Amino acid sequence: MNNLTKDTKLTLLYIAVAFLFSVAIRMIWFYNFAEYEPFKFNGQFMINTNDGYYWAEGARDILSGVTQKNDLSPITTAASQLTALFAYILPFSFESVILFMPVFLSSLVVVPIILIAKSLENLELGLVAALLASIAWSYYNRTMIGYFDTDMLNIVLPMFLLWSIIWAVKTNEDKYLIITAIDILIYRWWYPQSYSLELSFFGLILLYTLIWDRKNIYNYKLLTIMMLAMIGLEGYIRAILVLGVFYICRQKQFDKYVYYILSASIVLFFASGGFNPIWGQLKGYVFKDALSIGEGGLKLHFYSVVQTVREAGHIPFEMFANRISGHVVTFVVSIIGFIYLAYKHKIMLFGIPLIGLGFLAYVGGLRFTIYAVPVLAFGAAFLITEAARFMPSKRLKFLAVTALSMAVLYPNIVHVQEYRVPTVFNAQEVEILETLKNRADREDYVVAWWDYGYPLRYYSDVKTLIDGGKHSGAVNFPVSFILTNPQNVSAKMARLDVEYTEKSFIKEELSRDKNLTIFSNIEQMTKDYGFSDTNDFLLSLQTDIKLPQKTRDIYLYLPYRMLDIYPTVEMFSNINLMDGEMKKRSLFYLSKMFKQEQNIVNLGQGILFDLQNKKITINNQTVPIKRFVQTSYDKSMKFSKNVQMANPTASVNIIYMSSYNTFLVIDEKTYNSLYVQLMVLEEYDKNLFEEVVMTPHAKVYKLKI
Ligand code: MG
Repeated sequence: MNNLTKDTKLTLLYIAVAFLFSVAIRMIWFYNFAEYEPFKFNGQFMINTNDGYYWAEGARDILSGVTQKNDLSPITTAASQLTALFAYILPFSFESVILFMPVFLSSLVVVPIILIAKSLENLELGLVAALLASIAWSYYNRTMIGYFDTDMLNIVLPMFLLWSIIWAVKTNEDKYLIITAIDILIYRWWYPQSYSLELSFFGLILLYTLIWDRKNIYNYKLLTIMMLAMIGLEGYIRAILVLGVFYICRQKQFDKYVYYILSASIVLFFASGGFNPIWGQLKGYVFKDALSIGEGGLKLHFYSVVQTVREAGHIPFEMFANRISGHVVTFVVSIIGFIYLAYKHKIMLFGIPLIGLGFLAYVGGLRFTIYAVPVLAFGAAFLITEAARFMPSKRLKFLAVTALSMAVLYPNIVHVQEYRVPTVFNAQEVEILETLKNRADREDYVVAWWDYGYPLRYYSDVKTLIDGGKHSGAVNFPVSFILTNPQNVSAKMARLDVEYTEKSFIKEELSRDKNLTIFSNIEQMTKDYGFSDTNDFLLSLQTDIKLPQKTRDIYLYLPYRMLDIYPTVEMFSNINLMDGEMKKRSLFYLSKMFKQEQNIVNLGQGILFDLQNKKITINNQTVPIKRFVQTSYDKSMKFSKNVQMANPTASVNIIYMSSYNTFLVIDEKTYNSLYVQLMVLEEYDKNLFEEVVMTPHAKVYKLKI
């Protein structure tokens, strides 16, 4: 350490302080729930993001060496590979690795922040910015403990890129050429959608070069090596090209060729399809269509997931500001501070692509805000350190920086305290999935709504029809149909959809050589059974149709928590596929807050249930009910139900799930749906299904046909 300059020692000290601070704040959640067993599995906390189970499945399969064709396990993705590596070399359990990876990786963001500040010769600026950025509202939300997703490096890597670009432009040292290129290679490996930020940086450097520094050959070398790192070829080919060009860039005698290599690399970029993803995205924005219509064939109209995602809706300014800086005042201060900082140090203008991407939140959804966090943290930190400069003594200066830093950190720490997100599943649900793992074969399918797809695949090692990444209207339709239709047709659809899904994998493989059009499963079924109208095909499921050859077992996973989203699940099949017309919504009302006054149960929203006369009042209209059903579990967890038929010609049913404190008001279609019959009432056709796991949290059945 003696050889290190004072400056370097201070840099390392600040990095260590900021890193430990970031880690410590992320441990608040851990200690808040330390005694809470339902969040734990195998003695460790479970993760709290659904998508995390996707990367976890890939990592698990890499470690075990199990590869199945078409199981959708992401063994070739960077997140799974890095996780597998950590789990392999570190002495901790797999559960601990995926829980803590976001804590440590996301905290690395403090390193480039402090190194950037070092280039401005203002290390205090770096420390304050690093403290704020590492725990600011949205960055915390998306990189907290257990938030096991690519976000844990999605800001760290572009911040390193920004750092190396700033140092490259400032120092013109050769080593920053290769560091910049390597950062792009790693960033692209980690997050294939990184091209938009990389290209923005490229464009900005080009602009800077043409306006201010046209004669400097170094800038063209930087542009060349960046472009080669971004072309649309395999990572290892790009790495070889980058190394080759780096060698050329270091020899003075080759300088005259740099312009030719830059031109060639730009041509290569377009020729290799490097621009295609951006073009594809632009097209997506321009031709945004609510309904996705299959190409060719029957032109079926599916219900689109976009219609149910509210994230892209309008975002209030206060929420936007909070997410970026923790408080509206801090946000405004950050903007002013950044403008002032960029005025004093023009080099900081290279941070604009990150701010721009953050502001995309206004159109693209809240998840974008994290990109603006670190660069704007520089703004707030700069004003703080500038204000401190006016202090007469060193001591007062220190006090001012400390007090002002605490002020901007405070709202963010309060947010962390209050942000008590639950784990995706609870311990009892995971126990069910463990049981299922022992029963089901790897190649078997579990039919469940897409929210449970990744966790099911991770804990039970089975196949699923839909998941967090595969949930278009076309693939959701059959699953929605299975869950919300009567048992006899649902059972057939389950067998059909599983076998057709497997067949379509084979077709996809074949279509790479021959130009086969792949239709949605439901369209293919309609055609195979000789119909030209999908509605006719769906009606034919009520008859004795011949089902495809059974190649594997099928299970149904029906959790109690799906009750809350039942109306959304139904939407996807409550549509006339031929013309896109939505059908009338089923009656579905769920109440967990109700009051009984004598014989009247007030279910909220003006809905009253008259226990004595078996009548219900909805929208001021009183009608007789068809059935009143009460279900309960006794002390030994034995399920029982009592069905009272009140008025056979009526159409509204009431179910009181006493052990869950839940009332259901549903029409006849919902009452007869597979989900209500099998999950709520345990009323199943023994020719079609058999029980596998029956608990209050979830019920698992096996399909017999
Ligand atoms: Mg598997």
